[in-house]
Amino acid sequence: MKIFEEIESEVQSYARSFPRVFNKAMSEFLYDEEGNEYLDFLAGAGTLNYGHNNPVFKEKLLEYIHQDGITHGLDLHTKAKGEFLETFNEKILKPRNLNYVVQFTGPTGTNAVEAALKLARNVTGRENIIAFTNGFHGVSLGSLAATGNSHHRGAAGVNLSGTSRMPYDGYLGDDIDTTAYLDKVLSDSSSGVDKPAAVIVETVQGEGGINAASFTWLRNLQTVCRKYEVLLIIDDIQAGCGRTGTYFSFEEAGINPDIVTLSKSLGGYGLPFAVVLFRPELDLWKPGEHNGTFRGNNFAFVTAKAAIDHYWSDDRLTRDVKRKGEYISRRLQGIIDLHGEGNFTLRGRGMFKGINCVNGDLAGKITRRAFRQGLIIETSGADDHVVKFLCPLIISDENLKKGIDIVEQAIKEVCGKEESIPEQKDYFEAQKLAS
Ligand SMILES: *Cc1c(COP(=O)(O)O)cnc(C)c1O
Repeated sequence: MKIFEEIESEVQSYARSFPRVFNKAMSEFLYDEEGNEYLDFLAGAGTLNYGHNNPVFKEKLLEYIHQDGITHGLDLHTKAKGEFLETFNEKILKPRNLNYVVQFTGPTGTNAVEAALKLARNVTGRENIIAFTNGFHGVSLGSLAATGNSHHRGAAGVNLSGTSRMPYDGYLGDDIDTTAYLDKVLSDSSSGVDKPAAVIVETVQGEGGINAASFTWLRNLQTVCRKYEVLLIIDDIQAGCGRTGTYFSFEEAGINPDIVTLSKSLGGYGLPFAVVLFRPELDLWKPGEHNGTFRGNNFAFVTAKAAIDHYWSDDRLTRDVKRKGEYISRRLQGIIDLHGEGNFTLRGRGMFKGINCVNGDLAGKITRRAFRQGLIIETSGADDHVVKFLCPLIISDENLKKGIDIVEQAIKEVCGKEESIPEQKDYFEAQKLAS
């Protein structure tokens, strides 16, 4: 379709990796205009944990629309919002002994991060925020200052200030606990690092290359934060909502962050929705001090509640994610051992996994080949060198296997003696022949 080249900005990114016009979607599948089917291992960059157009949520949403339920509600109390809050409190917060208040922000992840940083600064009266190497927290200026990637930072056009960078877990090698460095820096009044309001961290870095922090490291990080009375913000926008198995990605580490950001899969249906959770003592906001026109996406309240009711009333999804996560690890490790050029490594936790191909060109070739076989899968990391497996959590075992098989074949072809392997028959040609 010409119109995209004609008037859509050059800023588009995913569209370049998957140059088709998509038209329909269901569960783990996307379909283009010509009816070709694609297995989706990108899943809205972690927004579609429950798949595309989940029929359970769709029914609730259609029902709500038919009843002329509120669509846009600013921050008014609505029935849909009240029901979401009740469900979130009863089924997510209380069973985990988490005592948080909920702030509704503008509906994207970066809106929640901005609010979290602003709150931490206002509550402590300090400006500095500690962020980590390879961290990604969004691209509006406050969040961008906490984001590591130079491609994104370079577009800011202004000084990105108010943050200091510390090495993430593993950044200096497996044997070095980088929280010891943070501890030292905070203890030393001449370290040059201003006492921070907060530390912001992902438990598994998504855009930064699927780097998973160890539970010990996360606990040590919390200990350092407590020691210096620095707030701990977990940015759970991508790792949360079940991606690692538990609802919050920090549960297994046994930590209690002061502030948590959620978005991406929170709305369940792919609808924009973001919140900040924090200890009630931190709730020093004055009415309207922080706002946003789209804090009341009531459709998302309806589907978010449906997602919690359906998937988080028991531990079935958690067990399923663990099981599939182990399968993914086993398969990816096998692929790495067989075809990984000796330097590929497995990354991540739960169903948040990646293959570090070390080389971005190689990773790009692999994902492009996979796409030709009908698999949508992206790369992440500083040099786009990590092939990122982010399929919907509810994917069938059969399709999970199928997607990994496609990647295995692509890696075999890219890393093997490419010239000796005949070009695969184009997937779409094959589909046409079959039909
Ligand atoms: C995606 C993401 C964000 C930003 O969310 P947007 O909706 O793109 O603004 C922030 N933090 C993390 C960890 C993310 O993965």
